[in-house]
Order: sequence, then C-alpha cells, then structure tokens
Amino acid sequence: MAAKKAPQNVAPRASAGSASGGVADDEMASRLASGAVFGEEERFDRIFRPSTLEEFVGQDKHKDNLRVYVEAARRRQEPLDHILLCGPPGLGKTTLAHILAKEMGVELFVTSGPAVEHKGVLTGLLTRVARADILFIDEIHRLSATVEEALYPALEDFRIDVMMGDGAYAESIQLDIKPFTLVGATTRTGLLTKPLQERFGVTLRLDFYPVADLERIVARSASLLEIECDRDGARALAERSRGTPRIANRLVRRVRDFAQVEGTGVIDRKIVDLSCDRLGIDSGGLDEMDRRLLFILIDHYDGGPVGVETIAAALAEPRDTIEDVYEPYLLQQGFLGRTPRGRVATKKAYAHLGAPLPQKPPSDQGSLF
Ligand code: ADP
Repeated sequence: MAAKKAPQNVAPRASAGSASGGVADDEMASRLASGAVFGEEERFDRIFRPSTLEEFVGQDKHKDNLRVYVEAARRRQEPLDHILLCGPPGLGKTTLAHILAKEMGVELFVTSGPAVEHKGVLTGLLTRVARADILFIDEIHRLSATVEEALYPALEDFRIDVMMGDGAYAESIQLDIKPFTLVGATTRTGLLTKPLQERFGVTLRLDFYPVADLERIVARSASLLEIECDRDGARALAERSRGTPRIANRLVRRVRDFAQVEGTGVIDRKIVDLSCDRLGIDSGGLDEMDRRLLFILIDHYDGGPVGVETIAAALAEPRDTIEDVYEPYLLQQGFLGRTPRGRVATKKAYAHLGAPLPQKPPSDQGSLF
C-alpha cells in the first residue's frame, strides 16, 4: 500500500513557507518550536512516521477506539465511517490517516483544502478511489464553499453531480462513485461549517502529548537516526518539545548535530541544554516567538487584554499562525489566558519571564492572578 498523490492536487502543508536552507538563525530558532512543516521536513516525517497503531505512541483512548472501528469495518467488509481529526499542527493527524489506510489494507489519497481549488479537482479524486479507499483532506476547513457543497452527496450517497456539455446544452448528471472514507484534518474545528462537521461519523480531538510519551518518541527517532540517546537526554528533549511530536523529532535532528560536533556523540541532558540555549528554546519549551508574544502583552499592554489582531500586527505574523501555532500551547500551559476582551498574560507568564507583576491588575485579569 502506498499513499497516492493525485497530480496537481497536493498543496504545500501549512502556510509555512519555503525550504529551511538558508534561513537566518533567529528565524530558524522560531521555527524550531512551531508544529508546522518546513522544507525537507516532509522527508524526515516519512522516516519517523510510525506505520501501525501499535507503533503510534500515546493517545491511547483514540487508538483503542480506532482499533475497534477498523476491526468492525474489516469484518463487515465495509469502508470506515468518515473521520475528522482535530488538533494543533504536528500531533499526528496525517500519520493516523496513513496508519488507517495501512490497517484497512486500502489506498490513501492525500490532498489539502486549498489544493482542491474547484469541483473538477474533487471529481477527479473521487472518480479514482476504489471501494473503501481513504481520501485524506488536510486543512479541510479551507475548502471553498462550492467544493464543500459538492462533497456532501459524495459523503452521504456516494454520488457526485457532474456538468456535461457547454452553454445551452449543458446538463447535470449524477455519477456513482465507490463507497470510500473521508479522513479530514483540521487545526481549527471552529472554522468548520456545521453541515460538514455533521457528516463525520467519528471526531477525534488530539491533545498535546505528555512528557513521558514524547520521551518514547524521542528515543524511537534517535534510534532511527542511529544516534545514541540516554534517558536523561530523552527526557530533557521531551520537556522542550511543546507537547508536539513533530517538534520533538525536529529537536532530535538539531541536537544530533550538536552532539556529534560539540559533544560526545551521545544525546545527553548536557548537550540538549547547550543546544536549546543556542537555539533560543527555554526550559519550558518556549521559543523566541512565544516569548516575544508574552513580552508584547506584558511590556506594551500591562499584561492585556489585547485583541489577537493587535498581537498579530505586533509580531508581523498572520492571525492564523498566532491562533493555530503559538496560542494553543501557551493557553494549554497556562501562560496565556483568554477573556472576552482579548488575550492576557498570566502570573505564570510573568514568573517564567522574570517580569515584575503589575501593581494593580486590570479588572478582567482578576481571576488569572
Ligand atoms: P499533523 O498531520 O497533525 O500535522 P503529522 O502526522 O504529520 O502531524 O506528524 C508529524 C510528525 O510527528 C511525523 O513525523 C510523525 O512521525 C510524528 N508523530 C506524530 N504523532 C506521533 C506519535 N503518536 N508517535 C510517534 N510519532 C508521531
């Protein structure tokens, strides 16, 4: 079974930009702690990507349920129900889609919301799927309204409407397609329309990984790269990985460089600390951009509340990147709070950055202090 990529339908993942070669050091450091995909990372994603549910580390509750769904579908010789995977970038949504196809013994077609530019692209994909195959649409919240509407009959009745002919002779005909499974991935469930959400039989929300799970991922990736990594080193790396497997894997690759050039050839705590200091990643796993975000709140707005648009403008980053990539971890770790009037820096953020607390917290920060 190999993942099939339909011609011209695969967009670059995330809004991440170009290859990492040649980027400035501080830019590289800020990218190190982002869950999005950069440059040659797709190649390493393939190397590190677990290929079975057994190998997929953590998320046990979801794995147990998926095992049942796969087994039931196989026994009935039916396709899996449509599945929606939600969660910040780098937590394993694409990996799960690959694993599901492998466990089902079917083909996987990979595309993304922005790449399905019009109905024709969707029709091209859907007419190629065989029975029970999986169509994976990453960033599914970015499908256009017309494409999304064209998807509905395909999901419900396994048929699509196709326009035949031109001008006055044009007519719409219905075409049957093979029963298939849609696996959609989104970093922003809130942006998904209700009718689309309702067409998924299963919705899984992936959480940030605990340090113990990331330790196992680090150990596995180090062994795949054939670099020795001791337990303390794996733990130190896991602690700085923002709860995100992709960041853990990225750090393993970077720390491997430092270990081989400036260390003993082994990933241990000392070399992890040294590398992360050089890369600007602090003990909480926060990078330059995270700290800049918190400092903007603290230094310029007395801790907030500040609207996300203002934060985006101050950081010169798109609002989406702030909301998809930076905020979820800061919120989850309690460095950032959300109020109806905007984002606020919490007491924990002040303590982490060594900033003095404001004399009198503004009224709607009360509960956070
Ligand atoms: P997403 O699609 O959510 O952005 P990916 O599935 O592309 O994330 O995962 C990013 C990287 O992290 C891949 O290289 C993958 O191997 C690794 N990874 C993700 N989840 C796990 C996991 N549970 N166990 C081991 N590796 C993982």
